[in-house]
Amino acid sequence: MTAFKLGDGDVLLIVDVQNDFCPGGSLAVPRGDEVVAIANRLAQRFGNVVLTQDWHPRGHRSFASSHPGMKPYDLATLAYGEQILWPDHCIQGTSGAEFHEELHVPGATLVLRKGFRREIDSYSAFFENDRTTPTGLAGYLRERGLGRIFLAGLAFDFCVGFSAVDAARHGFAAVVIEDACRGIDVAGSLAATRRSLAEHGVACITEADLG
Ligand SMILES: [Zn+2]
Repeated sequence: MTAFKLGDGDVLLIVDVQNDFCPGGSLAVPRGDEVVAIANRLAQRFGNVVLTQDWHPRGHRSFASSHPGMKPYDLATLAYGEQILWPDHCIQGTSGAEFHEELHVPGATLVLRKGFRREIDSYSAFFENDRTTPTGLAGYLRERGLGRIFLAGLAFDFCVGFSAVDAARHGFAAVVIEDACRGIDVAGSLAATRRSLAEHGVACITEADLG
């Protein structure tokens, strides 16, 4: 792999490094906390860093607890299609929704909150799960002249993967830094994510590939 030389048009997107997605949290990604140190390190190498934060109201439709008789990881059909149901997580204003306490990215210029509409989940940092409601991130990046997006965070096979694919769909160059991510692997989601990234021309690299 050729080394990537970083420049002014590059941005690091650190996805959902929040307590509920780390060990001890309500929707813990196995070894999710291992991304914290590498995300901190990467952030120092980028002139532009954006954080995303999963940010749900109580009673969110993606929670199994909002669907009597269903349990976490069941598939439900919502107005916009199939939705995996999750344990309650990242509820606005709770400690579970806070960033991991060791995440240290003082230079981040934007914290993008997503999933705040009660009826729609949002894996992607660009579109909510109805695939049509934009979060505003594409406009922010374009206005700031940021054309290449490097992604790190949680979880590789959900919010990182969907964000990377949507970045590519928007015409941005998208690069996933895979050793700065951890996955969940629900119902083959890891393999599906790898296929989707390849189909959309998203590169997967490691920290060592950054020149
Ligand atoms: Zn969520």
